[in-house]
Amino acid sequence: MSSISISDNLQTVQAALFAACREAGREPAEVSLLAVSKTCSPEQVLEAAKAGQRAFGENYLQEAADKMAAVHASAPELALEWHFIGPIQSNKTRPIAENFAWVHSVDREKIAVRLSEQRPAGLPPLNICLQINISGEASKSGATPAEAVELARKIAGLPGVRLRGLMAVPEHTDDVAEQHAAFRQLRELKDAIQSHGIALDTLSMGMSADMPVAIAEGSTMVRIGTAIFGKRSYAK
Ligand SMILES: *Cc1c(COP(=O)(O)O)cnc(C)c1O
Repeated sequence: MSSISISDNLQTVQAALFAACREAGREPAEVSLLAVSKTCSPEQVLEAAKAGQRAFGENYLQEAADKMAAVHASAPELALEWHFIGPIQSNKTRPIAENFAWVHSVDREKIAVRLSEQRPAGLPPLNICLQINISGEASKSGATPAEAVELARKIAGLPGVRLRGLMAVPEHTDDVAEQHAAFRQLRELKDAIQSHGIALDTLSMGMSADMPVAIAEGSTMVRIGTAIFGKRSYAK
């Protein structure tokens, strides 16, 4: 891991993001880069931040809290934007509401209501994406596409949170046509929700292995871990 330059990787990912936008006839400014820093050290986050990265995604609450504190302690001047992208237990919503700018993994009304109630009044609204289980895998979290419109309607009316869009982690496949189909399904679901008068501006889709496909299908935020920080090691 130590031979990998995070700064070089970030440049490579940015170049790939630009190329994918050009290919798709889109403006690079329409697609933001979320650096997924789960399992990374505070030093790795600081290295990415030094290279200009500002938005970071975390999956595990305790790990995120420790990392945010360590990063803040060594560089209090850095204004980083933290996104929670992992599964949410309903008894763990308060620290999310208090410490994050975005949550991508809201999949039921109960979670959204708790985040709404627990968002501190002094902070801007918590940006929320609904996580959708596009591939219909029983093991994966996410609301079903059929539930999405009703759920979006309920969340859009809550104070303290702002519904921004949809997020998905499609079932892994090396078949590019299947990747397109899954991302297209999420985009069409966003369009369907918007046709009910609910404004959405975010499609959180695309990871290290399928970023260009997600951008071709309209992604506005790609969540990239491995391509920036290297292969994750879960042995801690
Ligand atoms: C880990 C993770 C990512 C990043 O995946 P990579 O393949 O490492 O780019 C993106 N989104 C979610 C929800 C994740 O859990």
